[in-house]
Amino acid sequence: MTCYDCTQQDRTGTPAVGVCARCGLAACQDHARVLVAQVSQSHGLGPSTAPIAARRFVCHPCDTAERAY
Ligand SMILES: [Zn+2]
Ligand SMILES: [Zn+2]
Repeated sequence: MTCYDCTQQDRTGTPAVGVCARCGLAACQDHARVLVAQVSQSHGLGPSTAPIAARRFVCHPCDTAERAY
């Protein structure tokens, strides 16, 4: 799988390192960001957060959109 953003910029053939959790497009290391995500579950007495952080892989456009608020 090749990076969608690289393909749009004529940098064809850059291998993707992951798939964006939001839009589902493949992205390379230059066009994606790996974020720390907290995992929480509802246990009746309100949400509890896992002590270990999870990972979330998003492409640059989705990351920018999420930070635009
Ligand atoms: Zn790329
Ligand atoms: Zn995305």
